[in-house]
Amino acid sequence: MDFESLFRADLEQLKDDGNYRVFADLERRAGSFPKAHHHFEGSGQTRDVTVWCSNDYLGMGQSAVVTSAMHEAIDKCGAGAGGTRNISGTNHYHVLLEQELADLHGKEAALLFTSGYVSNWATLGTLLSRIPDVMVFSDEMNHASMIEGIRHSRARKVIWKHNDLDDLRAKLAAAPADAPKIVAFESVYSMDGDIAPIEAICDVADEFGAMTYLDEVHAVGMYGPRGGGIAEREGVMDRLTIIEGTLGKAFGVMGGYITGSVALIDWIRSFASGFIFTTALPPALAAGALASIRHLKKSAIERRRHKENVAKVRAGLTKAGIPWLDNPSHIVPVMVRDPKKCKWISDILMDQSGIYVQPINYPTVARGAERLRITPTPLHTDADIAKLISSLSDLWSQCALARHVAVA
Ligand code: PMP
Repeated sequence: MDFESLFRADLEQLKDDGNYRVFADLERRAGSFPKAHHHFEGSGQTRDVTVWCSNDYLGMGQSAVVTSAMHEAIDKCGAGAGGTRNISGTNHYHVLLEQELADLHGKEAALLFTSGYVSNWATLGTLLSRIPDVMVFSDEMNHASMIEGIRHSRARKVIWKHNDLDDLRAKLAAAPADAPKIVAFESVYSMDGDIAPIEAICDVADEFGAMTYLDEVHAVGMYGPRGGGIAEREGVMDRLTIIEGTLGKAFGVMGGYITGSVALIDWIRSFASGFIFTTALPPALAAGALASIRHLKKSAIERRRHKENVAKVRAGLTKAGIPWLDNPSHIVPVMVRDPKKCKWISDILMDQSGIYVQPINYPTVARGAERLRITPTPLHTDADIAKLISSLSDLWSQCALARHVAVA
């Protein structure tokens, strides 16, 4: 087998389809978020850009609250955790962080993982492979990490239509009454920005005695009076069996977690290979996340300013006649619906205006749903917003007028 030819052919195909990913080589600048240095490909030069597509939604990754906690922890504990959680790697910061997370979601206990991806993959994979005859009911728009965990378990899976209660109910009703069931879904869906009817889903799950698994990755830190997510905002945290989240988005650091009952967390801790057989998070990371969560539990100003900026961006886009997908969250998807145009607009924004918005193409979104996923932060200025809108507006016209020339 000529493996090299196979790799090259696949890559050429991606390029032909406009779906080949090029990473922007950035240097985020502590204290000047959302500005960053962009290293041009191979040129050795840098330029300043404004980042408009970060999942550091509130800028906490650049906040002195977080960075000073991390510096302090590095000075105290050093760099790495030194082992898996079981074999010397549990640091006191991990213990404090797990307590803080359990409290954030009103649960008895929490468990840290090295990322949100791993927390979904390992938890669902373990639940579904260890509970005899279990069935999972997964929203069709669930994130790859949940899908992979489900796939890995080889459990019986049923996909229900996105946020569709009737479809969920019908599918639960059609399943054997005595099979243990898990309903898995997200609160804020990251690409369209729509929000699940959590309470109603829990009601349906209850009718069939199903366990509920909620991914709040795009909502933690962002919604609810203490940043506990959509379930906190809606007063329904106690209705969920498991709430999962990340430390890598609004909290600005890295890592994932689940929260639930003492028995459930102890069980996952004891059986999940993706938790057991990997080095624990660096203590400084846990310290940074702890500081971030504690800060956002008390301070609502970041969330308020963030909301204001989201509204300003939406109003500007509307005024300029640029279509965006309306939704009740903080995500602003500007729909281009063409992979090559999407990439072209993104490239020109970067080259000519110092604006960085990564194009989102297949397979992250369906073909024909290509978009620029704009994520305003509380730290974008009015001038940043005005520049984004006017630059995008110019390119929008150019693209529509001279599509073939422009896209070539
Ligand atoms: N769940 C959802 C819904 C996500 O969008 C993501 C990442 N984009 C994850 C989980 C994984 O989280 P992490 O980035 O912390 O691995």
